[in-house]
Amino acid sequence: MTTPRRILVTSALLYANGPLHLGHLLESVQTDIWVRFQKLRGHECWYVGGDDTHGTPIMLKAQSEGVTPEQLITAVNVEHRRDLDDMLIAVDNYGSTHDAENEKICDEMYVRLRDAGHIARRTIRQAYDAEANMFLPDRYVKGTCPNCASPDQYGDSCEVCGATYSPAELKNPISVVSGTTPVERESEHYFFRLSDFESELKRWVTSGAVRSNVAHKLEEWFSQGLKDWDISRDAPYFGFEIPDAPGKFFYVWFDAPIGYLASFTQLCARAGLRFDDFFAADSDAELHHFIGKDILYFHTLFWPAVLLGAGKRRPTGVHAHGFVTVNGQKMSKSRGTFITARRYLDSFAPEYLRYYYAAKLGPGIDDLDLNLEEFTTRLNSDIVGKLVNIASRCAGFISRNAGGRLSEALPDPPLYAAFAQAGEPIAAAYEARDYATAVREIMALADRANQYIDQQKPWTLVKQADQADAVRGICTQGLNLFRVLMIYLKPVLPAMAEKAERFFGESPWLWQDAAQPRLGAEIKPYEALALRLDPKAVAALIEPVGDTTPAKTDLAATISIEDFARLDLRVAKILTAEFVEGSDKLLKLRVDLGEFGEREIFSGIRSAYDPATLVGRLTVVVANLEPRKMRFGTSAGMVLAAGAGGKDIFLLTPDAGAGPGMRIK
Ligand SMILES: [Zn+2]
Repeated sequence: MTTPRRILVTSALLYANGPLHLGHLLESVQTDIWVRFQKLRGHECWYVGGDDTHGTPIMLKAQSEGVTPEQLITAVNVEHRRDLDDMLIAVDNYGSTHDAENEKICDEMYVRLRDAGHIARRTIRQAYDAEANMFLPDRYVKGTCPNCASPDQYGDSCEVCGATYSPAELKNPISVVSGTTPVERESEHYFFRLSDFESELKRWVTSGAVRSNVAHKLEEWFSQGLKDWDISRDAPYFGFEIPDAPGKFFYVWFDAPIGYLASFTQLCARAGLRFDDFFAADSDAELHHFIGKDILYFHTLFWPAVLLGAGKRRPTGVHAHGFVTVNGQKMSKSRGTFITARRYLDSFAPEYLRYYYAAKLGPGIDDLDLNLEEFTTRLNSDIVGKLVNIASRCAGFISRNAGGRLSEALPDPPLYAAFAQAGEPIAAAYEARDYATAVREIMALADRANQYIDQQKPWTLVKQADQADAVRGICTQGLNLFRVLMIYLKPVLPAMAEKAERFFGESPWLWQDAAQPRLGAEIKPYEALALRLDPKAVAALIEPVGDTTPAKTDLAATISIEDFARLDLRVAKILTAEFVEGSDKLLKLRVDLGEFGEREIFSGIRSAYDPATLVGRLTVVVANLEPRKMRFGTSAGMVLAAGAGGKDIFLLTPDAGAGPGMRIK
């Protein structure tokens, strides 16, 4: 028996600027399998996550869509949760870095760092877009990497060499917002003195917190010298204002990992856990972060240093993985291989992808290729052909010929013992996040189970009246081997394992349940556990390029007539329409609502309408929508239109005879 551990696990927060895709699913699945494995082993293990919601991209995206950043991140949060649920990701708490809990912890940690002397203030010269009237955050300046000279790199880090730097260090910079060359302006910034923590970080790296190849990368960074980290950004910015610095905001990368703590406090409140048991400097609980290899610098240098500086514990492990490629190439929208979580989940069971990922996922940072042909053959061969086949071959004989009851003893105890003894090496592979090895060993056992049934031939014996007990014994043996395999695969295939638990009439399995066979018990009627994959359906995951079929959207929930009556829809006459400087989506409309006067409305229809063609026409507006302050002015209503976007936007027009101000009901 192992001593129960207390473990807190996170996967990287998911950026709230768009839908989840196969890459996000890899990380969520990798984390979820590890968490489920720990729980199956009887450890106290918690999994927290959430959305990363701050920064300029979110702010600008909300502006271009004519919504507030809060509205944007709330809508995305709902989608992300739904995708994760449907992928069977059992996250114990899913928060958002914009939650009040996060602001509170950010403030506390900042004050601690400041009071301990780890924050420095310096005036820097920063890129400023004189046309858009804003300081340009890192990702809004592009240029040539100062370290390796790769072109077209962002202002905060280089995707080619992994260096981090400030936008001012980029060569040949341009502003992504306006396309102009940024000018430099002075601004006072707040810096976290990373070098204060150099010796402690070096000790941490050698504590086994990261794998050797990552430790090697860190050695390189140490030898280049640790630079102070700019943790402030100037307004306009979507984030938390720094408590003692009006107009200055915490940089998104400061508050994002603190979001793990905020999400955990939400879990603590609900599950009755004590925060300090996990985060006090002397905590003996484990803390594990699962991340992509692109954010190593943040999680292996800045983050442990911020925790140390704020008087908290260090992470036990930071586990990085590679990227997902599709058919050997980087996912790409133009090739149709940018597969969203929803696109996958609309067509396939979550467990197929979970299994495929697990079967290919080692502990290192190599990229993982989703080859669609291999996906089909692997699933059909391993899950349908080998694993489920064991149960489907044996269950019928027990139900039809043995009254649905397993025999009292196994005919081949040594074979069962071999399966039970394979558990520890398989567990060691899971623990080391070497899922590929775990799956390979489990599938080797599945081959042995099928060989056993092939040799015993219950379908021949069942024709001989005196062999009924033998058939029952063989099928009891086969089903028990299947049961062991399902226990070992439960972290990867949780829903199938639950069905199998019900089939055996058992309460939820723990890992140790594999040690003893299930004998003399009644089994439930067998239901199919997995269906063959159709290669054509799998190939259709790749979206044909140039496909303009509108996205399928479900009907919204039913509303009452009272709900509808709250909407005040009015006929409006467009008086003027003009382009909005700095926005490629919006038009500024002045509309006449008859007795209710004139209004200014910003509408995201620029891609489909020439302003000149709109003047004088009648349309429909939501007249009682709360006015929205946008970067370009205040929008006092919403113009109604149908269509998927781009050129496909179709404004509503009332029939002849309608006049400005008339209510639509
Ligand atoms: Zn570079």
